[in-house]
Amino acid sequence: MSKGTRIVLLGRQGSGKGTQCVRLSRHYVVPHISTGDMLRASVRENSALGRGVAEVIDSGRLVGDDLIVELVRERLGKADARRRGFLLDGFPRTVTQAEALDDIANESPLNAVIDLVVPREMVLERLSARRVCRDCGANYQAGPVVASPWICDTCGGDVVLRDDDTPESINRRLDLYETQTAPLIEYYGASGRLFPVNGVGSPDQVFERITTVIDSR
Ligand code: ADP
Repeated sequence: MSKGTRIVLLGRQGSGKGTQCVRLSRHYVVPHISTGDMLRASVRENSALGRGVAEVIDSGRLVGDDLIVELVRERLGKADARRRGFLLDGFPRTVTQAEALDDIANESPLNAVIDLVVPREMVLERLSARRVCRDCGANYQAGPVVASPWICDTCGGDVVLRDDDTPESINRRLDLYETQTAPLIEYYGASGRLFPVNGVGSPDQVFERITTVIDSR
């Protein structure tokens, strides 16, 4: 990696992180690298990797650090990320992954780690209503009447309920976030790279808050 904008967006499930990432990646013209999207694509393609991880994802557990670190290392080595930088969504998830990322990005350190802060009580309802584009990852909220088929406004792909957005899996992922991912806040805070951003508000307000932080770096 050499130059560009290198951002990590942290935030618990349902914080609006995915929606903001899609928008931020267009705004800064950097690849949006979502490890969840990459894993789901491999499940759809029924690749060897996909066959191994489908059950882990559906149950709401985390896939192994070694596997996900290799996936990210390979992705960050591609020309677009080397040239333009990247916006990481869903990675790192553990302190081990964060240390590996520092190692991968050591010549071009991260510009900022944004922590999108939304209280847990607020996200449960949003997650049950969440629908996601299979192709571009755009997020939508389902109302009382759901279009069928539902076509993505951005890319024309199918908009679906994720297999892991069941109440059981959602709760397990939120618990996991507290235990495994929250220590990342300390890790990045200790090295002065963490910028908490209030994630409560309209998507436009939140976008404005995030870009203000990034532009100040
Ligand atoms: P969510 O943030 O709603 O959990 P993601 O799309 O980020 O959704 O991830 C979906 C699933 O993919 C996770 O529950 C986990 O099983 C797996 N996953 C994604 N990113 C990682 C990661 N960095 N480390 C381990 N597992 C991951």
